[in-house]
Amino acid sequence: MSKTAFLTDERTFWHTGGTHALFFPVGGWVQPPSASGYAESPESKRRLLALIQASGLGAQLDMRSTPAATDEDLLRIHPRAYLTHFKSLSDTTGGDIGDFAPFGKGSYEIAALSAGLALDAVDSVLDGRAARAFSLSRPPGHHCLRDRPMGFCLLANIPIAIEAARAKHRVERVAVVDWDVHHGNGTQSIYYDDPNTLTISLHQDRCFPPGYSGADERGAEHALGANINVPLQPGGGHDAYLYAFERIVLPALEQFRPELIVVASGLDASAVDPLARMLLHSESYRAMTQLVREAAERHCSGRLVIVHEGGYSEAYVPFCGHAIVETLAGIRTPVTDPMLDLAIAQQPSDCFKAFQRQLIDELAGQFNL
Ligand code: ZN
Repeated sequence: MSKTAFLTDERTFWHTGGTHALFFPVGGWVQPPSASGYAESPESKRRLLALIQASGLGAQLDMRSTPAATDEDLLRIHPRAYLTHFKSLSDTTGGDIGDFAPFGKGSYEIAALSAGLALDAVDSVLDGRAARAFSLSRPPGHHCLRDRPMGFCLLANIPIAIEAARAKHRVERVAVVDWDVHHGNGTQSIYYDDPNTLTISLHQDRCFPPGYSGADERGAEHALGANINVPLQPGGGHDAYLYAFERIVLPALEQFRPELIVVASGLDASAVDPLARMLLHSESYRAMTQLVREAAERHCSGRLVIVHEGGYSEAYVPFCGHAIVETLAGIRTPVTDPMLDLAIAQQPSDCFKAFQRQLIDELAGQFNL
């Protein structure tokens, strides 16, 4: 049986967004930050990788890097004018040509490498080199539009990987499950009129893009029903996400019958994330990973790829990510989550859970699920 592939590269940790405190550019009243003040700093990802190595899990994975995505790969999604503009600034000064998506010198090549890691993860699963695969992609990708970067995302990693797979393999129907706490607006926009790509985003209602909710956006004319948004109330926790899986995500996958499932895995719905207000913990991510793994086994011979997206708590991202990779690989290590008891004690009250369940039931009805 093939191992689980884990795609990573130290160079992706060298991408910088310049000097920011959280995501505020320094200047005016914003004081320069301490060492890792930028929200999308490499440290949460580097510490996830370090925990995977320290626990012994890494030694049981097929851990490797891969070449960057090629121009041909990038051009399947992004117009040449965007790539040229991004590269010319990356070669000189860095800058920000979108919304909250700053980059430094050399970030173009690093973003292409990040996309390449996702691409190889999908390719490895489709050609049988790996049973399942995880890509520690940085910078992330799920907010990036075809012609404009957004929300720390410079290239659309998952769509680049899916279209490379479609060009090479006989794969048509792909489902993307996005549990990053922010809306997967980039992936949605790229596939909004594609009936062969089911995009499902679970996100904190009105968080990012600011004010966005999205349940009424169901796909364009040719793809009606192939785009599903599940806005969840701030403060939602384990029960809200698991109930949304039971009522919406799993039935939608059942109906769609994908040949491949890709997860856009942000860890920023955790209970201590600075950029959102949800209450997940490592056992929530373990449970969601188990559910998508079982769905992949039911629908598509187990073909499952998980691509890292957001997650900004340096101390806690490693524990949530470690639970995901353990579950993906079917390996349990002695690592315990030091936050777990506290996060369980802080879950919302029964009346909040009932309210959120009612909203999810209403959504499921709207989606005919
Ligand atoms: Zn996010």
